[in-house]
Amino acid sequence: MIVSVKQQAEYTNLHESIKELMEPLGGFSSFIKPGQTVFIKPNLLSNHPPEDAITTHPEIACAVIQLVRDADGIPIIGDSPASAMNLESVVEKTGFKKLCEEEDIEFTNLEKSGARKVNIDGYSFSIATPILDADVIINLPKVKTHTLTTLTAATKNLYGTIPGYQKAILHKNHSNVGDFGRLLMAINKAVPVTLSIADGILCLEGDGPGSAGTPVKANFIAASTSTYALDFIISQIIGVNYKTVPYLKDYAKENRSFISQLEVAGTQIENIKTQFKIPNTAKAKLILPLLKPFIPIIGKWVWIRPAFDNKCISCGLCEKACPEHAITVEKGKLPILKAKDCIGCCCCHEVCPKQAITMTQSPLLTAFKRGPL
Ligand code: SF4
Ligand code: SF4
Repeated sequence: MIVSVKQQAEYTNLHESIKELMEPLGGFSSFIKPGQTVFIKPNLLSNHPPEDAITTHPEIACAVIQLVRDADGIPIIGDSPASAMNLESVVEKTGFKKLCEEEDIEFTNLEKSGARKVNIDGYSFSIATPILDADVIINLPKVKTHTLTTLTAATKNLYGTIPGYQKAILHKNHSNVGDFGRLLMAINKAVPVTLSIADGILCLEGDGPGSAGTPVKANFIAASTSTYALDFIISQIIGVNYKTVPYLKDYAKENRSFISQLEVAGTQIENIKTQFKIPNTAKAKLILPLLKPFIPIIGKWVWIRPAFDNKCISCGLCEKACPEHAITVEKGKLPILKAKDCIGCCCCHEVCPKQAITMTQSPLLTAFKRGPL
């Protein structure tokens, strides 16, 4: 399995850079036949500008639209952001409205385009119809750390193929991180991604994937036909232990030769390796399964939940995003959490526009957290 990597420090000349990146994989024309529809799926989590590094940079999408057209494909672009978000504002703030105007392409609203029910590996969810109907799917993830899954890149980006509030409900029904990782694996089986091209130029480290993370340069782009292969190589580049990423850990366990069969083409990862700050909660997520047998006894001392600080502007997005209705927001006051209802899903943390939410863990989990990851 090939993962092509290219050192790339700026969002310039990307048409040529992505063309070069694609050469070891056979170029765009080996994936796209003339006249085929190509759905392009960026990560548009929330309404932040490109310099906040929360969303895929529009210049990456621009180059991919043009390369699809060069291969005589018909590009379609769209996404479904975090469930509490207004799509119009997301498309505008992230630079995708301007991009769509310049490239004369309509932005497909996956909230309104219909969805088809899928049952796979015991999981049930709906995928937006335009994605399932496309001949080719190109996934454009942003490389970020994530308080729940430690890493979000190619595999996790497909969560956005599920429209609307269903995303929050699935978080609620699969709140255990291992279970949530297997749900992501089921979604990856349901969405036949042809190719993933990762935006690793300006990334997010620390308490990502929203505004609590910190933008950091990693200076690369990378591509693969396998979301898992791409994410594994990305984890190596940014210094994340893949065993802290639930879907990578399980995929590698189920496919024993997966790691040994990976081949990196282009820039060798030793030349661009870096060390991202890992989310505070990452080690706790590793420890939780080990504590599972003791949960009936120690359960009330084992938790991960949000804390709010005075950067809060009472926008109400966290209240809207919470699948357990555990948050109440009143104008001019800090949000109130019903701690007993919180399942630690991080949906509130993902959408806060003001870095006013920190995911915290109980002292017992903190005690287990000591030592390097
Ligand atoms: S309060 Fe936040 S972490 Fe807790 S259940 Fe609600 S959205 Fe999830
Ligand atoms: S904590 Fe963040 S998301 Fe919640 S009301 Fe305050 S600013 Fe809005």
